[in-house]
Amino acid sequence: MARYTEAVCRLCRREGLKLYLKGDRCYTPKCGVERRAYAPGQHGQGRKKVSEYGLQLREKQKARRMYGVLENQFRRYFKKAEGQQGVTGENLLRLLERRLDNIVYRLGLGASRNEARQLVRHGHFTVNGKKVNIPSYLLRVGDVIAVRDKSKESPRVKELMERAADHTPPAWLEFEADQAMARVVALPSRDQIDAPVQEHLIVELYSR
Ligand code: SF4
Repeated sequence: MARYTEAVCRLCRREGLKLYLKGDRCYTPKCGVERRAYAPGQHGQGRKKVSEYGLQLREKQKARRMYGVLENQFRRYFKKAEGQQGVTGENLLRLLERRLDNIVYRLGLGASRNEARQLVRHGHFTVNGKKVNIPSYLLRVGDVIAVRDKSKESPRVKELMERAADHTPPAWLEFEADQAMARVVALPSRDQIDAPVQEHLIVELYSR
């Protein structure tokens, strides 16, 4: 499965804000954005006039990078969002939020989406009792996600389960920390999606 494998702090620096791609490090002074608050590369510190297209592009890149989705897949999400009832931009964010790796991250069972994705790939979770190792798997209302019994013995999973017990997940997820199990109780509304993205700019970009 294709994914971005270059230095991820560059992505945050390019977007000019923390995308929290590295887990615990993001909360320390070692964070790339804290240390070098300008875009990467030779011209990163130059002043730039950004066009309307540039703003739209940056917004799309920000969302894509935050959720760890490559361009083609992101475009497929957009097409799907367009075909749904409601506001396309919000539909798009809702689809991204429903990804299994994102939900694992939202539950606090991964320090970053990257780690959550890796844990999913390694088969540490079940959905409705069946092992699912596809990070892009889309959950629906009523679905139950759980840590596999075998995985509860893994030191890292154990550690994450302990951390998750002190973590407050969004209201659309009901988490039973003692059972290492969660249920999707609703689809997230826009105000429940903690994503610093102006989704209408993404819609404008793809509507050009
Ligand atoms: Fe982004 Fe985290 Fe790197 Fe900071 S440490 S630049 S938030 S990935």
